[in-house]
Amino acid sequence: MAPGSKLDDRILIAGGGIGGLATALALAQKNIPSLVLEKAAQLGEIGAGIQLGPNAFHCFDRLGVGEPARQMAVYIDQLRLMDSMADGEICHIDLGEAFRKRYGNPYAVVHRGDLHGVLLKACRDHPLIELAVSSEVTGYQQEGRAVTARLASGESVTGAGLVGADGLWSNVRRQVVGDGAPRVSGHTTYRSVIPTERMPEDLRWNAATLWAGPKCHIVHYPLSGWKVFNLVVTYHNDAPEPVAGKPVPVEEVRRGFAHVCARAQNIIRHGKDWRMWVLCDRDPVDGWVDGRVALLGDAAHPMLPFFAQGAGQAIEDGAVLAGCLRGVSASEVPAALTRYESLRVQRATRVQRMSGERREHHHMDDGPDQVARDAELISQDPASVNEWLYGHDVERDL
Ligand SMILES: Cc1cc2nc3c(=O)[nH]c(=O)nc-3n(C[C@H](O)[C@H](O)[C@H](O)COP(=O)(O)OP(=O)(O)OC[C@H]3O[C@@H](n4cnc5c(N)ncnc54)[C@H](O)[C@@H]3O)c2cc1C
Repeated sequence: MAPGSKLDDRILIAGGGIGGLATALALAQKNIPSLVLEKAAQLGEIGAGIQLGPNAFHCFDRLGVGEPARQMAVYIDQLRLMDSMADGEICHIDLGEAFRKRYGNPYAVVHRGDLHGVLLKACRDHPLIELAVSSEVTGYQQEGRAVTARLASGESVTGAGLVGADGLWSNVRRQVVGDGAPRVSGHTTYRSVIPTERMPEDLRWNAATLWAGPKCHIVHYPLSGWKVFNLVVTYHNDAPEPVAGKPVPVEEVRRGFAHVCARAQNIIRHGKDWRMWVLCDRDPVDGWVDGRVALLGDAAHPMLPFFAQGAGQAIEDGAVLAGCLRGVSASEVPAALTRYESLRVQRATRVQRMSGERREHHHMDDGPDQVARDAELISQDPASVNEWLYGHDVERDL
C-alpha cells in the first residue's frame, strides 16, 4: 500500500491517450498506484495541434506537469473569427496579459505529440505508475472488493477500480452504457501540419483563427515554437462512415471550399500530407459508472471538436476522479466513483452540447441568420463570455 493511500490495490486504466495518462498522474499525486493498459503497441499520439483553455492548465498544475506543459505551448494573442466569404474579421478575443491574469493561466496551443510526450515522461518517471502496451481491454467483471479487466490476449488483470479512458470506440463503455456505436456526424475534418515558411505570409498570425463559412470552416494556428502551422479544415459532406487518419490528396480537401474567398482557399493549397477524419459524437448520458468501473474523456462524453475542449474535459475528469479516490479504501471505491460522476456530468454535458450546437453556428449561409449571429458575437464581452468554462478550477469542487 502506498503511503497516504488506503487502497491496497491499484486502479486499472484502459487507454493511454491524453485522458488515461492524465488520470494516472492525478492518481499518483494522491499516492494511488495505477496500471495503464494501452491497446496500441506503442504509446503515442498521431495528429496535429490542440487548443487548451486555462481550465486545462489549472489541471496540469494538479498533475505535477504545469511547468513542462507551459513550456511546450505557444501562447497565442487572440482567438480570431473570420468571415470566409467576405474575407474580413467578425470578432476576436484577446488572450494577452489581461486574459491570463483574469483566469490565472493561458489559453494556448500545443502539438498533441508534445503534450502526450510531457504526460508520458511524467508517467514513466513516477514509481506508482505502470504502463503496459498491446493490452486491449475487452471487458470486465466485478467481485467483492476488486474488478478484473479481460484483455484481448486472453490474460486478465485485477485492481480496486477500472477507468475506461479508451476513447470514442470504448469497449468499457459498451459494458457500462451499452448504447451502440457512436453517431457519424456527416462532417469531415482534414488536418495538415506545415512548416511555417509554407504558410501564406499574410496569415502567419499569432492567433487561433477560425474562418466560418457555409457548410465549412477552416482553423489555423502556429505550433511547436512557431516551427509549424496547424491546419484543420472541416466541411459538411454527409460522410456516411467513420474514418480516422486516412491520407487524402489535396484536391479532395479543396472540393468543399471552392465557394470561400481566395485567401481562405489559399490556406488549403499550402497544406501537405492531408489526412481525414469523419467526425463522430454521442448524445450525453448521465450514467458513467458501474460499481467500481467509471468512464472518462471521450469514452464518457465524446463531442464534436468545434469547442476545442475534448482533451481539456478529459484532463479535468482525471483530476476530479483522483480527488474523489483520495484516501478511500477499496470498499469505498464505488461511492467515490459515483461522486466523481455527480461532480462531472453536468459540466461535461454542457460542453458536449455546446460543441454540437457550434456546428450550425460555424457553418451558416450568408443571410439574416448569419448577420444576426455576427451582431450577437460583436455585442458580447469577449473577455467574460466563457468565464464559466475557463475560470473554473475543478478541484475546488471536491
Ligand atoms: C479534429 C479534432 C480536433 C480536436 N481539437 C481539440 C482541441 O483543440 N482541444 C481539445 O481539448 N480537444 C480537441 N479534440 C478532442 C480530443 O482529441 C479528444 O477529446 C481527446 O483526445 C480525448 O482523449 P481520451 O484520452 O479520452 O481518448 P483518446 O485520445 O481517443 O485515447 C484513447 C486511448 O485508448 C486506447 N484504446 C482504445 N481502446 C482501447 C481498449 N479497449 N483498451 C485499451 N486501450 C484502448 C487508444 O489507442 C488511445 O490511446 C479534437 C478532436 C478532433 C477529432
